Amino acid sequence: MHELTITQNILDIALNAASQQNARFIHTIRLRMGPFSGVVPECVQMYLDVLAKGTVAEGAKIEVTTVPLRVLCRDCGKESEITRTHIQCPYCGSLHLKRLSGREFMVESLEVD
Ligand SMILES: [Zn+2]
Repeated sequence: MHELTITQNILDIALNAASQQNARFIHTIRLRMGPFSGVVPECVQMYLDVLAKGTVAEGAKIEVTTVPLRVLCRDCGKESEITRTHIQCPYCGSLHLKRLSGREFMVESLEVD
C-alpha cells in the first residue's frame, strides 16, 4: 500500500461526497484505519496538501481513528478485540488467533461547508 495512491483515492471519495452535498470547502476528512493498515497518517496529510490544491479539499485536515483489531481464537472459538502490543486471546491465553480485521482503511466522514 502506498500513501500516494491511497491519498488519491481518499481525495476522490471526498470530492465526490462534497459535490453531492454542494459543499464549498472540505475542512476535515475523517479516516478509520486498523492497526495493521500500514498507512502513515502524516504521509497522507502531506500528499493531500499537494493533491488537493485547487479543489474544494484544499487545506483539508486528515483525522484518523484507529479501530481495534478483531480476532477469532482458534482454540476456544471466541471473538475478541486486542491491541497490537498484546496479541493473545483474552479468554484462554492462546496465541493461535485468526485475524478478522485490522487492515481496513476507509473514509468515515467529512466536515464540509
Ligand atoms: Zn481463546
